[in-house]
Amino acid sequence: MIFHSSMKSGFISFVSAGLVSGFISLGAAFAQDFDAVEIKPTDLGNGFYMLMGSGGNLGASVGEDGIFLIDDQYAPLTDKIVAALGKIGSGDVKYVLNTHWHGDHSGGNENLGKTGSVIVAHRNVRVRMSVDQFSKMRDRTTPASPDIALPVVTFDGNVEFYFNGHKIEVKSVEAAHTDGDSIVFIKDANVLHMGDTFFHTWYPFIDAESGGNIHGMIAVHEKGLSLADGTTKIIPGHGPLATKADLQEAHDKLVNVRDALQSRIDKGMSDEEIIADKPLESLDLGWGGFLKPEQFVAITLAGMRG
Ligand SMILES: [Zn+2]
Repeated sequence: MIFHSSMKSGFISFVSAGLVSGFISLGAAFAQDFDAVEIKPTDLGNGFYMLMGSGGNLGASVGEDGIFLIDDQYAPLTDKIVAALGKIGSGDVKYVLNTHWHGDHSGGNENLGKTGSVIVAHRNVRVRMSVDQFSKMRDRTTPASPDIALPVVTFDGNVEFYFNGHKIEVKSVEAAHTDGDSIVFIKDANVLHMGDTFFHTWYPFIDAESGGNIHGMIAVHEKGLSLADGTTKIIPGHGPLATKADLQEAHDKLVNVRDALQSRIDKGMSDEEIIADKPLESLDLGWGGFLKPEQFVAITLAGMRG
């Protein structure tokens, strides 16, 4: 997700759910009350944790080498995140891996960079964070990040970390939620962090303006399914801890969404006509989160039309 300063306890209020010249308006209203946020860890075994606060779900490996952190939420939460990690184990945050560039996953980079953490991400994360990012859908600009917040190691492909006795595999995927997504798999601990390529029980935000599209989202779900087994602990970008069955269900629903939208595109229908046709109504998605169904359709269509 992308909303830097607009989340309130994981909930977004939209000023307008209407369409703005073919795009959906995602202007968000609330200032974040970070004081009220608690960082809640879940023990996944083998020194791995999922931590929930406000923003993207965190993953962490804690052990004798220190801390390997996957995503870092918002800047005002860094002290709370470090304190929560300090209760689990000792040592510094040696590495931060950003699953993608959005500020609810990389907002702590500046603070952690200043204290010596090595920030690592897909090449396109650094590219996007290095310059202002204007979103027409949200009618707002995310300013370029200071140098200290930028990834100092970038990759395009796969990279492995040997840390705390584990092989932590970071895998680039094709454009999905954005054009710079990574997923993280630790085979011996059977933990998989999907970043925002997987929203568990939420309408997935597919950021077409950052190069995302539903075809890539489906492909990443399939990649995750190929890595996971019946006992894999799957950390979604947003939503509760998940299983392979949950990931399979989300995949199957995304395929149905794609087919429902593609068939209407193929008939020559405009975005407005497709939205008015309520293409999701018969799909029984059961999703919640911060997007309304019509916003999800509009955003997803933007990615499909390219
Ligand atoms: Zn995101």
